[in-house]
Amino acid sequence: MIIGEDRILAGVYQRFPVIAVKGRGVLIWDSEGREYIDCMAGYGVAIVGHCHPKVVEAIKNQCEKLMICHCSLYNDARVEFLETLVKYTPKGLDRVFLSNSGAESIECAIKLAAKYTGRREFIAFTGSYHGKTLGSLSLTWNSKYRKPFEHLLYPHVKFARYNDVKDFESKITDNTAAVIVEPVQGESGIHISSYEFIKSLRELTYKHGSLLIVDEVQAGLGRTGKLWSHQHFNIDPDIMCIAKGIGGGIPLGVTVARSDVMNVFKIGEHSSTFGGNPIACAAGKTVLNIIAEENLVENAERVGSKLKNMLQKLQDESKIIREVRGIGLMIGIEMKINIYRILLETIKKGVIPLYSGINTIRLLPPLIISEEQASRVVKALSEVVKSYSV
Ligand SMILES: *Cc1c(COP(=O)(O)O)cnc(C)c1O
Repeated sequence: MIIGEDRILAGVYQRFPVIAVKGRGVLIWDSEGREYIDCMAGYGVAIVGHCHPKVVEAIKNQCEKLMICHCSLYNDARVEFLETLVKYTPKGLDRVFLSNSGAESIECAIKLAAKYTGRREFIAFTGSYHGKTLGSLSLTWNSKYRKPFEHLLYPHVKFARYNDVKDFESKITDNTAAVIVEPVQGESGIHISSYEFIKSLRELTYKHGSLLIVDEVQAGLGRTGKLWSHQHFNIDPDIMCIAKGIGGGIPLGVTVARSDVMNVFKIGEHSSTFGGNPIACAAGKTVLNIIAEENLVENAERVGSKLKNMLQKLQDESKIIREVRGIGLMIGIEMKINIYRILLETIKKGVIPLYSGINTIRLLPPLIISEEQASRVVKALSEVVKSYSV
């Protein structure tokens, strides 16, 4: 099975030798029946856990009623999702464009900011990740992703140093359409913004008449212990991008904006064939309800801080861990060595980790993870880490 996939699927993914065939909650099972605690969770998608019964039921019911409905027609599942969503979005962000992925939610934000301001310059930050379509890749920092396509990328993007107020101040001008930031950077290895930094983005974008876009694709929906990661910093963004977990595993991207911003789009200026389809909307509404009903934001905060403490203790006992960083259930463990073998060995111990680059293990478990399961994750990592002496 693995060989067949490797032969046919584009070779763009770093792969691990697990054939996942089933998931329930925090756990997944491979084709031989081995059980794993899933801290990859589909790259942070399975926030309510795998195959949550309410999500499964909502999708099944919707499939039996109507599977596709373009936004040219009205739809009951869509309006229910939209009305639920805007109950949870920050004040003032109440108009929504629906698409199918994180990158698409960013593309929409780029077009909105460009049209609203009539400007063409963007500022993103070192370490940023906003996706790999041409627009979103233009705002993504990592040269490994950009370099082969540099000649196709949008040229009017400046990268300011992340968490460096002075550098940002020197780059923003009255030609800046928008500034885009992940309040907690994910792909680059879990880096948390400083309070002064995020505050300065808001103050200086106001001063220059630029928009502030927050990318909540990975850090949003409770992962950091607040529903939206920018709420740690008490700011009001102009545009917010959501994806990953919101569809409970069904592709769903969401761009939320101030109504005067979203209203610059006239009929036909943006669209998506699948965006707003009833299945994704039924799933999305259910996910939002589950986050509230099961107190998943609080759970992420509580179990996340326990997990981080346990890992920091492990760091004290180990020679190969350089730093443990994290907020809520978004945790990075930076190693002094290449982690590829550590990842494989951790998988053998029944925990599927995620990674950032070559030296940071990243944990993005479902927000329903229990303290006991978190301890099992630490136990597996600890057994692996302690087998190394540097
Ligand atoms: C994953 C991610 C994206 C891109 O989402 P896709 O669905 O893979 O296109 C954008 N921004 C952030 C912060 C992400 O983590």
